[in-house]
Amino acid sequence: MPDAELQNNPQTRIADEGVTVSVATQSTVTAERESELLASVPTGLLINGEWRPAASGKTFDVEDPSTGKVLLSIADAGAEDGMAALDAAAAAQDSWAKVSPRERGEILRRAFELVTERAEDFALLMTLEMGKPLAEARGEVTYGAEFLRWFSEEAVRAFGRYSVSPEGKTRLLVQKKPVGPSLLITPWNFPLAMATRKVAPAVAAGCTMVLKSANLTPLTSQLFAAVMQEAGLPAGVLNVIPTSTAGATTGPLIKDARLRKLSFTGSTEVGRRLLTDASENVLRTSMELGGNAPFVVFEDADIDAAVAGAMIAKLRNMGEACTAANRFIVHESVADEFAEKFAAKMADMTTARGTEPESKVGPLIDAKSRDKVHELVSDALASGATAVVGGAPVDGPGYFYQPTILKGVTEGTRILSEEIFGPVAPIITFDTEDEAIRLANNTEYGLVAYVFTRDLNRGIRMGERLETGMLGLNAGVVSNAAAPFGGVKQSGLGREGGLEGIEEYLYTQYIGIADPYAG
Ligand code: NAP
Repeated sequence: MPDAELQNNPQTRIADEGVTVSVATQSTVTAERESELLASVPTGLLINGEWRPAASGKTFDVEDPSTGKVLLSIADAGAEDGMAALDAAAAAQDSWAKVSPRERGEILRRAFELVTERAEDFALLMTLEMGKPLAEARGEVTYGAEFLRWFSEEAVRAFGRYSVSPEGKTRLLVQKKPVGPSLLITPWNFPLAMATRKVAPAVAAGCTMVLKSANLTPLTSQLFAAVMQEAGLPAGVLNVIPTSTAGATTGPLIKDARLRKLSFTGSTEVGRRLLTDASENVLRTSMELGGNAPFVVFEDADIDAAVAGAMIAKLRNMGEACTAANRFIVHESVADEFAEKFAAKMADMTTARGTEPESKVGPLIDAKSRDKVHELVSDALASGATAVVGGAPVDGPGYFYQPTILKGVTEGTRILSEEIFGPVAPIITFDTEDEAIRLANNTEYGLVAYVFTRDLNRGIRMGERLETGMLGLNAGVVSNAAAPFGGVKQSGLGREGGLEGIEEYLYTQYIGIADPYAG
């Protein structure tokens, strides 16, 4: 089925990050099913292979953003627990690095199979703690599990090389070695995939880890860690420290010389601060930060395909994605047609708790996020934009916001320079290709761009001129475990996934060997 048709088919949705899932069989979830699942989630800290309470005995609550009700309370790690987790990771590093690449790969393969077997549990848990509709959560399970499979295959391919030096005397042996104990910090928006995208390559490379999940959505990481244990990961290799005091708990680890790597996914603001902290010990860092993706529609684009792509690039994860299209830059000759067709689709998107069969758009993560989205919309409206559809929060419990399209947005409006992180699409128009490039590049971010055109040369030119780490050409989604995901400018450093993903957890060591023919 061609993409546009697929995306319009009511039996399918393009769920999170490029995975198509069927929603035909989506059933209503009972309260008993929710309780049973929550009861199976470990509530402790995972340190050296054991689930234990926080040293302080403290816990924190995890809420359902569609009701505001508490789902579960879990252990709240403090600095002492963070240090115990690093102790365990540092102690396990040498023996873990000696485990054969094949065995490390097979643990990942088993983890892939276990996550896949428990796909419904992972999907429901993400829907409960994060809010996304079940169909999308199922898509994230598929996408997240794929990192486990991909890196199970990459574990045995950390190749070095042997060569003769140019003058013919020395032999050059180059090998790849695990970086060492790594601190992994993940955001709340993709609770499973953001964890597997870091844990899988670290396991493949032979690094031990301390994982600090996001305090708004830590439950999925808890269940995932239990699955990693079941898959045979030795004690101490993966330690998990959910916490309500991120800075105080992880700060001492970043200053500790035993830590060798910091991999962070989150906002540019926090990433910048962590980079400063990491400079003290000159830590290896990977930074997957914020985005402000332009979505460019040329006059020669297939408008129906562009609208289908826009729906995915904007509404996936309720717009709470670093890859979410943030600015719709549309040629003035097709702007009305695009806005009209886009609005018809947006108006059709039902907001409801993600467990409900009719849910196409779940709640935003919390009241603060919903208020920020509304603030940006109100500012744009006050600056002369008009709402083609939506434009307001949804009444009732939970933090829902109406799918919204704004027309007549002008350059300089806040909504074009800040990450919206909600189901809101501002449209601005352009006349020439140069103007489209200038508008698209007019941001400090550089994660991804989307371009819709039937002219392949123009598409290639756009790839060459756009300052982004990724480009979707006639595609509303780019994420794929086999592709290098990451940004330029203030969207980050390093890549996750693809051949590049494992490199983030390896360092290169060169051994110079004296002339084997010398007496
Ligand atoms: P965030 O506020 O920056 O938080 C990200 C993570 O950092 C959370 O685990 C958070 O802990 C932790 N954190 C916050 N302050 C910290 C500190 N001082 N020291 C150590 N850790 C700290 O971001 P978010 O709101 O969770 O996620 C949304 C952002 O992530 C957006 O900007 C989005 O674009 C970006 N993102 C980027 C990518 C990518 O691949 N480029 C992917 C997904 C999301 P708490 O949860 O406890 O606050």
